[in-house]
Amino acid sequence: MKVLKFGGSSVASSESINKVIRIVKESSQTTKIAVVVSALGGITDVLLDAGNLACEGNEKYKNSLKIIEDKHLQVVRELIPINHQSGVLGTIKKMLNKLENILEGVFLIHELSNKTSDKIVSFGELFSSFIIAKAMENNNLDVILKNAQELIVTDENFSNAAVVFSSTEKNIQNFFESNKHKIVVVPGFVAKTEKGEISTLGRGGSDYTAAIISAATNATVLEIWTDVSGMYTANPKFVKQAFPINNISYQEAMELSHFGAKVLYPPTIQPVLEKEIPIHIKNTFYANAEGTLITKISSNKNPIKGISHIENMTLITLEGSGMIGIPGFSKRLFDALSQKKINISLITQASSEHSICIAINTSDTELAKASINSEFNYEMEQHKLDALLVEKNNAIIALVGDSMKSHQGISGKMFSTLGKNNVNIRAIAQGASEKNISAVIAHKDIKKALNTLHSKFFEGQTKQLNLFVVGVGNVGGKLLQQIKKQQQYLMENLKLQVRVIGIANSKKMLFQEDGIDLENWKKPLEKAEILNMDLFHKKVTALNFRNSIFIDNTANENIANLYATYLKESVAVVTCNKIACSSSYSNYLNLKSLSRKYNAPFLFETNVGAGLPIIDTLKNLIVSGDKVTKIQAVLSGSLNFVFNNFNEKISFFDVVEQAGIQGYTEPDPRIDLSGVDVMRKILILARESGTKMEISEIYNNSFLPKPCLEANSITDFMETLKSEAAHFNKIYQKATKNNCRLKYVAEFNNGKAKVGLKEILQEHPFYNLDGSDNIVLFFTERYPVQPLIIKGAGAGADVTASGLFADIIRIGNN
Ligand code: ADP
Ligand code: ASP
Ligand code: MG
Repeated sequence: MKVLKFGGSSVASSESINKVIRIVKESSQTTKIAVVVSALGGITDVLLDAGNLACEGNEKYKNSLKIIEDKHLQVVRELIPINHQSGVLGTIKKMLNKLENILEGVFLIHELSNKTSDKIVSFGELFSSFIIAKAMENNNLDVILKNAQELIVTDENFSNAAVVFSSTEKNIQNFFESNKHKIVVVPGFVAKTEKGEISTLGRGGSDYTAAIISAATNATVLEIWTDVSGMYTANPKFVKQAFPINNISYQEAMELSHFGAKVLYPPTIQPVLEKEIPIHIKNTFYANAEGTLITKISSNKNPIKGISHIENMTLITLEGSGMIGIPGFSKRLFDALSQKKINISLITQASSEHSICIAINTSDTELAKASINSEFNYEMEQHKLDALLVEKNNAIIALVGDSMKSHQGISGKMFSTLGKNNVNIRAIAQGASEKNISAVIAHKDIKKALNTLHSKFFEGQTKQLNLFVVGVGNVGGKLLQQIKKQQQYLMENLKLQVRVIGIANSKKMLFQEDGIDLENWKKPLEKAEILNMDLFHKKVTALNFRNSIFIDNTANENIANLYATYLKESVAVVTCNKIACSSSYSNYLNLKSLSRKYNAPFLFETNVGAGLPIIDTLKNLIVSGDKVTKIQAVLSGSLNFVFNNFNEKISFFDVVEQAGIQGYTEPDPRIDLSGVDVMRKILILARESGTKMEISEIYNNSFLPKPCLEANSITDFMETLKSEAAHFNKIYQKATKNNCRLKYVAEFNNGKAKVGLKEILQEHPFYNLDGSDNIVLFFTERYPVQPLIIKGAGAGADVTASGLFADIIRIGNN
């Protein structure tokens, strides 16, 4: 005989029930089967709600009752042929009346015991098993319905009753021995006490019913049919990359289910384990999927089988000098909790015996507090014990595997992976058998922790980068294009999965949790929500993805002012916006120190020379012990463009206008022409060389005449370029007469910096600088005479985007 159990989601609608019938029909062709069914998906919750509302005296319990009625009547009408419907509907309506009477009673007396609550919830399975058996009958299957209440006997611990195995086994054996039908449908979850009162086996308990029947009848297999294709390496609702484990041992399955893998109710394993009956977890909706086979020994050699987690945990710490060396403290603590039937999920005690810390379900917090305080009232009054420390909003995350004990370094890897991703670990427990390593973390970190651990232990080291891109115009647009083009290459060659999760322009912002389609983001962005940078930040932190990177492609000061808030959340910052790094030295320093403190990279290679590896080279010189003595550089692609194209045939105004149109200048050309942009760049290089410097300390020998410097708007400024044409022509003529070219040069020497326009003679390396090229000469202790030279295109959207991309990859490779 086989036992098949179908969970709530497998019987949530007539469509799903038809799938179940098909599976049962096929299965019953070769052997007799028992079919254990849950209540229709979600109905148990509605029944509990109805009970609670009625108990509060809230008339809304009638709405819940109506939902229950409508759902079941609808399923009957859809499943049962019209000529057979009336009998089935009649029975259901009678049962509904009974349920209504009980609820009315609860409503009138404002009292709901666990005993009455069990009476109420048991209707879920009674309805479903009746309907499903009738539907099978109408499909010409040889079926009989058997109420589990006539089979399973329990104690009086209502809502979570313990099975009395001796009589239960006998009942089951007697029934199945005399049963002649191919298929027996049994409601899961429900039972009766020895006195004949209705009881239930705890939430998720239908799995247990099926296991009890399997063990008593020596079934060949227990099949658990559900809405996922097996027991996964982690809860698939949290970890997209999780996959079903093909084979796992009873012990491992028990650990995983105890630590939150809801797919199997933990007590289920015990009855079948003794008889070594395999459990096969299967997907009702993909019946051909392999599923998970649970057996005594697993053929799967991975030392770690899965990662599970439990939410809503509270940490309670009992601490004080009065605990040292006095026996019985822990016993008293555990007794105090056990008297109140409070389950302890994790215990840690320092070897100094100075403190003991336990994790319990948050719903038990108040009860636990009261009970512990009353037990240790005397010691607390005597100040031998401190006041209880109670911390809510925690979760437990656990690595599970039978053979972890024979593999070294797993816990080290677990904790360093969590640490690197800024997941704070509050408590740790590892059983001596090493089947399970668990850690208490903050609730908000669950998803990140599960995903980083999963990628570390199961995904062949693929690293996911999650990008939040602000500014998707010229540079940002190109960046998205480049990422799209390289995504597959990065995955295949660097094992980097680069996803863009959020984008924003100056008006709108768009988020897509599983990655924005980079083929098609413009239209969705247009239709997306209004930009609000506060909200943007909130979304990034709420998503709490591992390896999140905030990318600033704007030239906006307000955005630059936000970097600290991102770094503090351990979100890396990559920016081509120079404002932050050239703001006050204290701000620059603060961002660098936040980056170190929160383990969040802060990269700004594109602040100087766009995509050229200038800052990275400088950093490498410094970390390898070199010292910069002098820097000479042409750092303005815009000014190069301007002075390379300015001659007697074209006006200065026209050249500047062209530079703007071709994207070589900042949105405000004054930033380039006044020298401010170059000042910012040499300032950043000076700072990165290790010099403390403010922008006000840089000498700026401006080539602009007074009216240009005093212009109040971009338009006014452009006008002055026309009216001052003679001034610019004169500069040009003088240089030509001296056989020189004009270059805007930045210099850093002996801790001092200056910028200004210079006439450059032919033999100088700056003379032949084309188009928008940049050049930097680093004179250092290692390069005292022949400088280290970096030269190449130093402006333009494409090269800036590729510089940003390089910073992103640097983070990925870190
Ligand atoms: P049923 O109604 O069939 O009893 P449950 O909702 O009780 O189904 O259990 C199935 C659910 O368990 C899945 O939909 C999934 O969300 C959750 N789950 C949690 N952890 C795991 C895991 N490690 N593997 C598979 N499912 C898991
Ligand atoms: N219907 C019960 C519950 O939802 C039992 C089960 O489905 O296993 O908890
Ligand atoms: Mg279940």
